[in-house]
Amino acid sequence: MTLDKICEEIKKANKIVIFTHESPDGDAIGSSLGMYQVLLKLGKKVDIVIPEFPKVYDFLPGRDDVKNEANSDYDLLISLDCADLKRLNGAEKIFDEIPVTINIDHHSSNTMYADYNYVDPVTPACAQLLIAGFKYLNIEISKDIGKCLLTGIITDTGGFQYSGVNAETFEFTAWLIQKGVNESEIYRKVLQMKTIPHFELRKIVMDRLEFYENGKIAFSYITREDELKVKANPGDHEGLVEIGRDIEGVEVSILLRETEKGFKCSLRSNEYVNVSDVGMMFNGGGHPRAAGALLTYSLEQSKQKIINEVKNYLK
Ligand code: 5GP
Ligand code: MN
Repeated sequence: MTLDKICEEIKKANKIVIFTHESPDGDAIGSSLGMYQVLLKLGKKVDIVIPEFPKVYDFLPGRDDVKNEANSDYDLLISLDCADLKRLNGAEKIFDEIPVTINIDHHSSNTMYADYNYVDPVTPACAQLLIAGFKYLNIEISKDIGKCLLTGIITDTGGFQYSGVNAETFEFTAWLIQKGVNESEIYRKVLQMKTIPHFELRKIVMDRLEFYENGKIAFSYITREDELKVKANPGDHEGLVEIGRDIEGVEVSILLRETEKGFKCSLRSNEYVNVSDVGMMFNGGGHPRAAGALLTYSLEQSKQKIINEVKNYLK
């Protein structure tokens, strides 16, 4: 089984690097920091690379060891929560030089880019996949590791509310609580508490919300100028696309966010549109109810193209 092979490769390796997806969310960060601590306990030399680390996750154990860039001469690369190599924070440059690569993920659009691909699209969070894996391999999960992994579960399930949540999600959570992990503290820090710039961006997104197709599509956007104006930090845009999704009658919410590379599009759906398929039409992807893509056109063109594509999927 892939998991046994992965375990063998980890045992063999001395110097390991962990990567995760760009614009990292709680699952990307929690999974990476959880894996990082497991590898340290196994006596490995480990680099963990997460540029643009959002402040909200500063409380997680291991945070101070996080690097912005990788070095060289690794025996093994582990990618967590990342569907394709393009989004792996610059790992593309060193990927071919590293003898063994492992990809652990839960995105249905995963392109299976590594030597060993352990991908389960049914699992609601990469962190949940790691807990199952660590348990299977009899690797001990300490309270600190549990804190990181539960952060991944809580953020990727929107606080246990999304459709991917299953019995195992609650079993693992109960088990982590028994180990002393404070679920309510994590929930408050990563989901409930909003930064002031996030709150200011919410107002902008709400002001600009437009509806299409009899209210089935909600659309809004933020520009770089907006983010400068509100003094946004990495991660402050997180959750803005959900404003449109949560309005009665809306099936798909679209949020465009201007970045250096183009307009980053976030997609969310409620019941039947597979937004991962929509994202894939623009070389992106994700999950059936949460996905994204990078659009390299003007704001107006990006808006028209994405709305037209979503319209096709509403039929
Ligand atoms: P978000 O809208 O929060 O940035 O992303 C929603 C989900 O879609 C996340 O699971 C994220 O990893 C995935 N996603 C976002 N953008 C892209 C993209 O450009 N390509 C792929 N493959 N997945 C994406
Ligand atoms: Mn995830």
